[in-house]
Amino acid sequence: MFDLLPPSDKRKRFELYALGLRDFAGVRAEQPLDPFALAEFARLMVVDFDSIAGLSPESRAHLLGDGAEQWSGGACSRPLPNGWKLVILNPAHGQQRNRATLMEEVAHVFLGHKPNRLAIISRNPAVSEGGQSKSRKTATQTLARDYNHDDEEAAYAVGAAALVPYSVLRRFVMQGRHASQIARHFRVSRQLVEYRIKVTHLWQEYKRASATRAEHV
Ligand SMILES: [Zn+2]
Repeated sequence: MFDLLPPSDKRKRFELYALGLRDFAGVRAEQPLDPFALAEFARLMVVDFDSIAGLSPESRAHLLGDGAEQWSGGACSRPLPNGWKLVILNPAHGQQRNRATLMEEVAHVFLGHKPNRLAIISRNPAVSEGGQSKSRKTATQTLARDYNHDDEEAAYAVGAAALVPYSVLRRFVMQGRHASQIARHFRVSRQLVEYRIKVTHLWQEYKRASATRAEHV
């Protein structure tokens, strides 16, 4: 029997990739997917933020405090000599968001995306690296990987679909489950579930079910 697929052609394509990933991971339709297990097959090494050497206490405090919303994590563009890539996740975002970020990186690898260039996103970071001279500071550059827009969209969408597959999402929505319940089930954020409900055209159904839910409270 085929899994149920979302309505649009683009979403069908993403869903099939996502189901392929879930199949590869050996999880059943209703089971939550563990991106950390898949990361190994994608040769992604997840590094604990706390183990990054050379960050000043000020930088650390900035990245986890005021600046925490400006980064979610990602893979280093250049692989290690053994072919693995380092991935750093933002611990301030919590496990649910980290799982979506890591899943996106896994999807980039499985979809065979190639970064098209290295982008310098910051030449003169506002954050002072404690104790360094001014000349050292201006020489600091932050390198970020840059995929093209379509690849970014596909990786995020496939990652999200792998975490929250359509057939089960649809069933849960029809049963009148709330996004936060579905999120708990798949161990992702409520926002990710709502995004999945919208892009798979289940939002109207979801609203209808939630109106019924409210009546019965
Ligand atoms: Zn990406």
